[in-house]
Amino acid sequence: MSAEAREADVVVVGGGLAGLAAARALVSRGASPVVVEARDRVGGRTLNEDLGDGKVVEIGGQWVGPTQDRLYALAAELGIETFPTYLEGENVLELGGRLRRYRGTIPRLNPAALVEIELARRRLDSLGRAVPLKEPWTAARADRFDRVTLESWLRRMLRTGSARQLVEIAVRTVWGANSADVSMLFALWYMRSGGGFDSLVDTEGGAQQDRFVGGSQLVSLRMAAGLGERVLLGAPVTAIETGDGGVTVFAGAHTVRARRAIVAMAPPLCDRIEFRPELPPARSQLAQRMPWGSYLKCLAVYDEPFWRADGLSGEAVSTVGPATTTFDNTPPDGSPGILLGFASGAEARALQRLGEAERRGAVLESLGRLFGARALKPERFIEQDWSRERYTGGGPVCFMAPGVLTSFGPALREPAGPIHWAGTETSEVWSGYMEGALASGERAAAEVLERL
Ligand SMILES: Cc1cc2nc3c(=O)[nH]c(=O)nc-3n(C[C@H](O)[C@H](O)[C@H](O)COP(=O)(O)OP(=O)(O)OC[C@H]3O[C@@H](n4cnc5c(N)ncnc54)[C@H](O)[C@@H]3O)c2cc1C
Repeated sequence: MSAEAREADVVVVGGGLAGLAAARALVSRGASPVVVEARDRVGGRTLNEDLGDGKVVEIGGQWVGPTQDRLYALAAELGIETFPTYLEGENVLELGGRLRRYRGTIPRLNPAALVEIELARRRLDSLGRAVPLKEPWTAARADRFDRVTLESWLRRMLRTGSARQLVEIAVRTVWGANSADVSMLFALWYMRSGGGFDSLVDTEGGAQQDRFVGGSQLVSLRMAAGLGERVLLGAPVTAIETGDGGVTVFAGAHTVRARRAIVAMAPPLCDRIEFRPELPPARSQLAQRMPWGSYLKCLAVYDEPFWRADGLSGEAVSTVGPATTTFDNTPPDGSPGILLGFASGAEARALQRLGEAERRGAVLESLGRLFGARALKPERFIEQDWSRERYTGGGPVCFMAPGVLTSFGPALREPAGPIHWAGTETSEVWSGYMEGALASGERAAAEVLERL
């Protein structure tokens, strides 16, 4: 056996939140896992960017909110504090060519548009409540809802242009996909798994409520530190072989032999690994049918959060774009000032066709319109496009087009012999979010422990 060959009870492929949570759960129950991570770092879709002076800002997943109990508890256990997203002052709405200020999640619109949005939100939540979290494909009208896109449903519910545009921005920010890309059944299930429409889109009381002091990647870094030498970095897995009562994972010079494997990554990434023997058809075809969202996270760094003095929260919604949603992403001590702009779905794809300087110019122009001329001249501009990352592929999550959940849904979690599946996309709760990643890792670890 070569010096790089290791043995373990369980080999975990992927050192994001899901893989690390699985490994931690296994260790706590006395099993021995080895985590094999392709990158030279842990955290996957969470990544801290260094700002100097010991400060960081996140260029991947960052917020935590109510009912994400695992994540709050784990962070507390790891000594990581949270702080509220900056919300004081007014938000900005750019609708067509006009700027307006407002408070709360829903901007001031004409009453007809507001009524339509309210009805659509209520209807989405009530339809969602009829979709079982564990097996959404068994919902009473699953076939019917999986045959249409979210867009075709919204088109019937929303007649006014402004209502449609604003709900579309919310959809794109949640999935990095246009509503025309997403199955209605998938959308209902996903929203329900995160507690409903408001819970996904709200800042206070919703998924954007709090941030982590020291950045969200700290959660993974501290979990990995606790796992010590059980985490192997810089080891992209190219093949997984099942046989002789176990699993062997090949990652360049490294091989890990174990009784069971947990593959903790988004389904499409599994398609890049050679499975010997091949995976069951439903699982391998699922990997071909879950595309990534298109999502650009852009951060403009200023000497101070100047918009606060103008009575603005930094939160904005723009139908003009390309930054269609913005937030104040300043560190907890108030310096430097950071504006975060998301371009998602169609806007992200349009930006991706531009060169770097043009992209930066287009995003800053957006911020300039929303927050004034000072926004045009940041000290630093950071952009992260997860579709350019080999070991991710897009962001923030993978979604399903019509027909996929009813035809391939059960393959999300169904083990393939000794191979189990984790990753936020496989979670029943808070699918797509960091909380869902943790839940999926714990669920896969429990499955494995039952069978060891
Ligand atoms: C821009 C952006 C913003 C987001 N915002 C939020 C937010 O505010 N709040 C929130 O809760 N969630 C947010 N998310 C989503 C959140 O980041 C993810 O749900 C979560 O991090 C997923 O964790 P995971 O472990 O399931 O997958 P990942 O983090 O993708 O981990 C998979 C791991 O597998 C590794 N890997 C891939 N291929 C191989 C291979 N062949 N061999 C070995 N290792 C491999 C990868 O390198 C990675 O480390 C955001 C995501 C993005 C991209």
